[in-house]
Amino acid sequence: MASNGTVLLSFDVEEFDMPLEYGQQVPVSEQMQTGYDGFVVTMQLIDALGVPATLFTTANFATHYPEAIRNVQPHHELASHTYYHSQFEEKDLLASRLKLEEISGRKVQGLRMPRMRAVDMNAVKSAGYAYDSSINPTWVPGRYNNLSLPRTIYTQEGMLRLPASVSAVFRIPLFWLSFKNFPYYLFLQWTKNAIRKDGYVCLYFHPWEFVDLSHYKIPGYTKRLAGMPLQNRLKRLITDLQTAHTFCTIEHYLHSRQFIHST
Ligand SMILES: [Zn+2]
Repeated sequence: MASNGTVLLSFDVEEFDMPLEYGQQVPVSEQMQTGYDGFVVTMQLIDALGVPATLFTTANFATHYPEAIRNVQPHHELASHTYYHSQFEEKDLLASRLKLEEISGRKVQGLRMPRMRAVDMNAVKSAGYAYDSSINPTWVPGRYNNLSLPRTIYTQEGMLRLPASVSAVFRIPLFWLSFKNFPYYLFLQWTKNAIRKDGYVCLYFHPWEFVDLSHYKIPGYTKRLAGMPLQNRLKRLITDLQTAHTFCTIEHYLHSRQFIHST
């Protein structure tokens, strides 16, 4: 691992259900198709740049596109984003891991809850996960206030937790919404500062951001730059970070730091 810091690039691979939150009915087939179109574009983009990523995938998405999941290059990590994006029961923790492993033939070690919702760490442990990445250690109005939680890797009730990264000073989340809504150079600078302070950064996006979403009735700040402009911005970010930092999957990073022992 390079000593100048690691980039943990992650994507939540899922059915595109956001319009439902805003009262727009979208058939399941279209939610799936939008997720899939974004997935194809995203994998092409990161594979062309040669960077590994961690793909937190719903079992629902994987069940609809098993071939696409099996064709993911082995240097990427497949992790769980539970079973369905829009509904959750605790038994889905185990069911999603088993379904993803059955479809992919790979071991699934990581979990990220849809919308970073709260989850019982004992249930995550019982379902056989090695780490949880369902924490955004910041304040998102109307969603959660995690300002008192650690910014970086910690253990809770025996479960390893890898928070999504936030900026070093004001805990600005380094995730999809700030990537598209803040000026590019600010986001890049915050990311580099977080790498300098923490030794790594964990960034997260969604494949559906990289296709056209203009016809959906979702807030402007969620669909800003959607499609090609955001593809270009992500390419630029990866290229800029590649010059000084190493990209790695979460599983590989935790393993190299001896936080987890099996792969
Ligand atoms: Zn999600």
